[in-house]
Amino acid sequence: AKNAGRDGFAFFTPAMHEEAETQAMLHQEMRFAVSDNQLELHYQPIKHLDSGNITHVEALIRWHNPQRGLVRPDLFIPLAEKTGLIREIGHWVREEALAMINRMQQYGIQLSVAVNISTAEFYDRELAQKIVQQVQDAGVPRGSLMVEITESLLIRNQQETLNFLQTLQAAGIRVALDDFGTGFSSLSYLAAFPADKLKIDRSFVHQMSSDSRKQALVDTIITLGHSLNMTIIAEGVEEEADEILLRARACDSIQGYFLARPMTETMLLNFLLDYPDD
Ligand code: C2E
Ligand code: CA
Ligand code: CA
Ligand code: CA
Repeated sequence: AKNAGRDGFAFFTPAMHEEAETQAMLHQEMRFAVSDNQLELHYQPIKHLDSGNITHVEALIRWHNPQRGLVRPDLFIPLAEKTGLIREIGHWVREEALAMINRMQQYGIQLSVAVNISTAEFYDRELAQKIVQQVQDAGVPRGSLMVEITESLLIRNQQETLNFLQTLQAAGIRVALDDFGTGFSSLSYLAAFPADKLKIDRSFVHQMSSDSRKQALVDTIITLGHSLNMTIIAEGVEEEADEILLRARACDSIQGYFLARPMTETMLLNFLLDYPDD
């Protein structure tokens, strides 16, 4: 961040200068990431607590930078959002997730995949139609692609957002509200947008077994979501104690390091083949 200088000029410390330089370099390098096949999706399973089944996976992007190695999305997604490159990346993520769904089908695995959609992609007013088109072109089973959005989608007006959701849902694409509870307007968001799933942000879930305030909040979110007919997924479940608590509180599904970390497609395939089914 910039500091306002004496005469209203912004001044930069050496560290800020370095950061700006790194950002500019990262941006240059990122321009070739898609065409040079440097992007990869990793997949993290989501478990339904009642049945114990893996119902779907979340696709999480990874960038193999030739010089820097693996770059985390927290570092380059915000940059891609600023430069507009996120639209190309978002398109690639969906193509890759759809191709992966088809590959899994060939192994006899019916797996749904959730992809993240950045708020910055919503400036494209045809986004919903484009996603539906991508799904149809890929010929995947109905319902096998899902999307995750955050409440910052509210930057568009309510009617447009409603149209967005309805276009997707009419094509069998279920929508999850991501990072629920961290925004400024969670409640009004819930009232206005009929999403299918709600993901409790991991800041509420993390270490909840030793924090009664977090438990109370998680409880409230679960009750709220259920009363609106939403399926609840708790993110960031790192310990068995959290899973036990969430189960007792009728949370529907969990995602987190306790079950599995995000992994490559090959690792996921082995994970699923080894996974006990009953
Ligand atoms: P997110 O959508 O909230 O994704 C969940 C993040 O939590 C992932 O981080 C995942 O690795 C991490 N996580 C999962 N379980 C645990 C756990 O038990 N403990 C902890 N501490 N972390 C856990 P990741 O993969 O680094 O992604 C970070 C964020 O980057 C994502 O947060 C999402 O906002 C963004 N992102 C990732 N992939 C994409 C993408 O394809 N498109 C867009 N637009 N954004 C993406
Ligand atoms: Ca997500
Ligand atoms: Ca999340
Ligand atoms: Ca997040």
